[in-house]
Amino acid sequence: MPAAGAALAVAAGGPGTAGVRAVLGLDVGGTKIAAGVVDRSGDVRSFVVEPTRAGGARGEDLERLFELGRRAVAEAGLALDGLAGVGIGCGGPLDATRGVVSPAHLPEWREVPLVALAEKAYKKPVELDNDATAAAAGEHRVGAGVGTSDMVYLTISTGVGGGVVVGGRLHRGATGNAGELGHITVDWRGRECRGCGRRGCLEAYASGTSIVERAREADLEVASATDVAAAAGRGDATARAVWDETVEALAAGVTSIVNAFEPEVVVLGGGVTRAGEHLFAPVFERVHAEAMTEAGRAVRIVPAALGERVGVVGAAAIVFEREAAAHA
Ligand SMILES: [Zn+2]
Repeated sequence: MPAAGAALAVAAGGPGTAGVRAVLGLDVGGTKIAAGVVDRSGDVRSFVVEPTRAGGARGEDLERLFELGRRAVAEAGLALDGLAGVGIGCGGPLDATRGVVSPAHLPEWREVPLVALAEKAYKKPVELDNDATAAAAGEHRVGAGVGTSDMVYLTISTGVGGGVVVGGRLHRGATGNAGELGHITVDWRGRECRGCGRRGCLEAYASGTSIVERAREADLEVASATDVAAAAGRGDATARAVWDETVEALAAGVTSIVNAFEPEVVVLGGGVTRAGEHLFAPVFERVHAEAMTEAGRAVRIVPAALGERVGVVGAAAIVFEREAAAHA
């Protein structure tokens, strides 16, 4: 819609904005909330972040989130009028069709009509998706998955989340909770999963939380998953055992995902991937050896490209993605 874009650029009034319709992205995470103004090409024109401060009154948390968004708009040199829309990525579970969230990481937020409240706060159309789905949209649109038709994104941090792009489109499921790839079973009699209560989920082995927990059970003094990877790299046998189990679980999960979706690329993001080649090399090797088809064995497994801004860029990407889908 070039005409509307031009009109909005005029409203924005800034130089270099011709033809650009900027979107406000809001990322509601477990430890931080972030906001940023992102343009169509993925350029981040402002980025602000604060601790989530879970445990505060729900109304207070919401007002802080909306105020953070207003700050991002101001820092981008725009007025709210200059925005094409607002995208929100929020931890699940949620109902994207009704615009209601009950994020597991914010116990005070139950059945919060986040879309309606944000529309009221900003007087703009608002789109909502699961945060990992939004991150997948960001990596697909302007990050490590650019140009692919079929892509899977996994974020491996305190938990494990995922998003799936099929035929160039995000796969959301009936209510927007699809892509919970952290809860693929890799050992059905295995460790209890903190995220969902079942046993043997990928998250129960590959998450940073689990890596540290299993290392401590083995009497290792470590503060993070990267400590375990580093100790394993130095030849510590106990750390090696924990890390090998982590890699095996992740490779088992990724192989199942590759067999299910036959993606061209699997993008791995999140803090645990800071282990770098200690993680990518062995996972790559196992997935390539074990995937069922030639296409599966040809899959690329690459690090995420968007870093700490993935949540905000992803939240904006869902607005652009839905707009493209509406015109398809
Ligand atoms: Zn689980």
